[in-house]
Amino acid sequence: MKVAENVVVVIDYTLKDNDGSVIDSSEGAGPLAYLHGAGNIIPGLEDALLGKEAGDEVQASIEPANAYGERHEQLKQEVPRELFSGVDSVEVGMQFQSETEQGPVLVTVVEVKEDTVTVDGNHPLAGVHLNFDVTIREVREATQEELEHGHVHGEGGHHH
Ligand code: ZN
Repeated sequence: MKVAENVVVVIDYTLKDNDGSVIDSSEGAGPLAYLHGAGNIIPGLEDALLGKEAGDEVQASIEPANAYGERHEQLKQEVPRELFSGVDSVEVGMQFQSETEQGPVLVTVVEVKEDTVTVDGNHPLAGVHLNFDVTIREVREATQEELEHGHVHGEGGHHH
C-alpha cells in the first residue's frame, strides 16, 4: 500500500538543520503515526512521502516555506518587564500565550534585561531549512473514527 490521502503512515525520523545538528528525532520517543493529508505534519514532508511504501527510506530537504514558514522580524518585540509581573522569574526559553489583534500567539522569551523582555512570536523553527531522514514502517487504511478526528489513534498517535 502506498502513501496517499487519508491513509495512516507510521515513520521513524531524524530531523537536522543545515549544520547537521539534530533538532528532533523519533528515537527514544518511538515512531510517529500521522494521517496523510490532514495537516498533522508539515506540507513539505507530506509531499516527500506521497507514493512511498513501508520499508522505503526517504530523504527530504525542505525549505522554510514548506515547513514552519519564514521568520518575520516584526514578531520579535521588546516589551516592558512589568507585563510579566505575575511571573516570579522570567527566563530565556520560557513561552507565553500573548493576546494580539490577530488572536492568541505563542511567544518565546529570547532576551531578558533589567527593564525589558524581548519576546519572539515566530515558531522556533521558522526560517529553518529542515533535513529529514525518514524510514516508513507501516502504511495502513485509516479507521472511520480516525478520519472523523483528523488524526491517528493508538501507538504513535493520539490516546484519548
Ligand atoms: Zn481522536
